[in-house]
Amino acid sequence: MMADVLNDSTALTATIVFVFGAMLGSFLNVCIARIAKGESVVRPPSHCPKCNNPISFFDNIPIISFLILLGRCRSCGERISPRYLFVEVLTGLLAAALYCQVGLGLAFFTAFIFVAALIVISFIDLDVRIVPDAISLPGILAGVLFSLIARYLVDEPSDIIPSPLSALLGVLAGGGFLFAVAWIYERLTGLEGMGGGDIKLLAMIGAFLGWPSIPFTIFLASLTGSVIGLGVMLVTGAGRRLALPFAPFLCVGAAVHLFFGREMIAFYFG
Ligand SMILES: [Zn+2]
Repeated sequence: MMADVLNDSTALTATIVFVFGAMLGSFLNVCIARIAKGESVVRPPSHCPKCNNPISFFDNIPIISFLILLGRCRSCGERISPRYLFVEVLTGLLAAALYCQVGLGLAFFTAFIFVAALIVISFIDLDVRIVPDAISLPGILAGVLFSLIARYLVDEPSDIIPSPLSALLGVLAGGGFLFAVAWIYERLTGLEGMGGGDIKLLAMIGAFLGWPSIPFTIFLASLTGSVIGLGVMLVTGAGRRLALPFAPFLCVGAAVHLFFGREMIAFYFG
């Protein structure tokens, strides 16, 4: 069955989509590094953070350049974070996986922008513990906008793009619910719990995936966050005050919902 679906031309297109995805992953790396430092993502052109030498285009080929240079700057030999390779491979793979699920159309375009935003937010949060408004706020608008375009302009019914109503309710459910939880938590404990950045991220997830994705995403993020947090505490001996960044777990939960949500809803509700 699978072999029929994945015929030669599909495999070829998936490969091309992977290459384009990896190239965009290369740009996402620039976004991650520069937004984390509050710099412009367009200027100046790519340069080594250590020696400032510009990176020529043939040293900027996704995945391949990293492997050829063995993860080091050609000019000064400074080690380049393996994150660059990881993000390029991940973006390429997710783009190819999306193509295999929905083909190339508005649903692909919408979902890929969403996935790219999740990747950038995850790695910035891992790096500097900030969920950048520069991604989440335009992301909320984009999610709602794509639901309107799919419904009224393109008339492309898709399981992946929610109805405009579901997208708006998603923004309210994601933003509103977490805002309430954070407010109550702060009132009860006097501690700041969930950050405002996580709340805006959840509003963005609701905008792109619709309101039913919110409880699922929170549940999966809390579950994986607890398991991994416990593991980190056991391995490193960190105390109970260990604070993991929560946004990457929310992003993984949202991505699982994007790729497997329909199957799971069909499984539970027939
Ligand atoms: Zn250098």
